[in-house]
Amino acid sequence: ESQKETLGFQTEVKQLLNLMIHSLYSNKEIFLRELISNASDAEDKLRFAALKDDSLFENDPELKIRLDYDAEKNTVTLSDNGIGMTRDDVVQNLGTIARSGTAEFLQQLSGDEKKDSKLIGQFGVGFYSSFIVADAVEVYTRRAGAPVEEGVHWESKGDGEFTIENVDLNERGTTIVLHLKDDAKEFADGFRLRNLVKKYSDHISFPVVMKSESEEEGEKGEYETVNDATALWTLSRSEIKDEEYKEFYKHISHDFEDPLTWSHNKVEGKLDYTSLLYIPGRAPFDLYNREAPRGLKLYVQRVFIMDDAEQFLPLYLRFTKGVIDSNDLSLNVSREILQNDSTVDSIRTAVTKRVLDMLSKLAKKEPEKYQQFWNEFGTVLKEGPAEDFSNREKIGSLLRFASTHTGEEAQTVSLDEYIGRMKEGQSKIYYITADNFMAAKSSPHLEVFRKKGVEVLILSDRIDEWMMGYLNEYDGKQFQDVARGELDLGDVETEEDKKHQEEATKEHKDLLERIKAALSDRVQDVRVTNRLTDSPACLVVGDFDMGAQMKKIMEAAGQ
Ligand code: ADP
Ligand code: MG
Repeated sequence: ESQKETLGFQTEVKQLLNLMIHSLYSNKEIFLRELISNASDAEDKLRFAALKDDSLFENDPELKIRLDYDAEKNTVTLSDNGIGMTRDDVVQNLGTIARSGTAEFLQQLSGDEKKDSKLIGQFGVGFYSSFIVADAVEVYTRRAGAPVEEGVHWESKGDGEFTIENVDLNERGTTIVLHLKDDAKEFADGFRLRNLVKKYSDHISFPVVMKSESEEEGEKGEYETVNDATALWTLSRSEIKDEEYKEFYKHISHDFEDPLTWSHNKVEGKLDYTSLLYIPGRAPFDLYNREAPRGLKLYVQRVFIMDDAEQFLPLYLRFTKGVIDSNDLSLNVSREILQNDSTVDSIRTAVTKRVLDMLSKLAKKEPEKYQQFWNEFGTVLKEGPAEDFSNREKIGSLLRFASTHTGEEAQTVSLDEYIGRMKEGQSKIYYITADNFMAAKSSPHLEVFRKKGVEVLILSDRIDEWMMGYLNEYDGKQFQDVARGELDLGDVETEEDKKHQEEATKEHKDLLERIKAALSDRVQDVRVTNRLTDSPACLVVGDFDMGAQMKKIMEAAGQ
């Protein structure tokens, strides 16, 4: 099968290419970051594979990335001596998009360039970004350890198909040749490319080398390293500029926008590891897919071990991106080993706390950014009280709710704020759940609270009722669903209110009996209430019965 084949791109790839070329038009230069990122990943993967089999180095153990250009031919060429790809890998990786949900995601894009470029940016365009600047792209690649004849040549004009054939390649790894479009010729320039490498890829772990152009910097025509080439997280915080943190985030996250915040820590002592954790500014399209890749990369003694190291964070913090570099774990750890390793458990506990602290700090110091975080990721954080009992209180302080105080649908009220506004004599945190905000807001259950001026949190996300099942109290105060059981307003309710209710119950005993008989087995009880001011009647759920929202979820699940 060395002969040349022509194959079509997966439909999603075609759509993505089209959209990308238009919406990233004003952001062309990011192609270089994407390609260097891939080259760096490939070097990382080779180094990892060579831990078990060092023949993979093929007598060429110096891992580096080479960048060349030709101003006459209008080409930019990027080579790495990383892991490389087999023919099947190439067809798979450079012809399809493996992420599930991509088709649906692409459908949402509107054709509005500004908006789409943000969305696409967050989806991560990777290799395909080559076609923003190139009207033809060639890839030469050979998998490390594979015979010379198993080299692969891939070529495409980005117009829906590509060709693939086997060629002899003496060197392992991947070379990408970009044939620049007329409006992208500017990139076939040494000065421009050097600047871009510095700007986007200074602190990847591998040297990026270019031919020297001036007499002063070494021999003319010899390759020299143009980036710093030390992994960012190994530097000390004081040496790192904010810009560098942000670029590194983009390098590891596939996100084009800046992160909201980050936290970088070296831990020494009983545990010995470095963590660099980021909170993105925007949720990925597959955030709710619990199987979607998670954003932590694991390194052991600076050697890359794996992506999606999900063992280091609970699921409800799955939006976190970053790097863990451990000096305690062994270089030959596997996912299976990580699953029951006490060092991993300790790091996970510590990293979880770091993320929660980072969010608390953001909430305190930059409430607007925290609100942005909440709007994007709040529903995921709401999985926290159920998943992470030990941090319930801390998670509680990070929750934001809609409330009768603001009367707005936006979830902006914290529990601490609520408590600060509690009425004298009020001991509970009241809330109401409903399918949607409007239904909750106009519920008759709120009437008496309005009358008494007592604030009620309005919960209308699908997950809310489930979450409240795990969040029994906060700051020593119990939560109370206003639609449940006998309403106890604590001391906010006056003796007079209570007396009035008792008298009314006596007075209307016959009426209550008759209503109860008429509704027979559809209700458990009929009571006189001072819950209502305008509505004649309302339904109440028993203290230990399933809530209305929960019932619907169970019904939908066929229970
Ligand atoms: P991502 O980097 O997010 O996986 P890309 O579109 O950038 O997505 O790349 C797709 C895949 O192609 C990579 O996951 C990798 O398997 C493969 N690939 C891309 N560039 C290289 C390279 N230089 N060396 C080896 N594999 C590569
Ligand atoms: Mg990539």
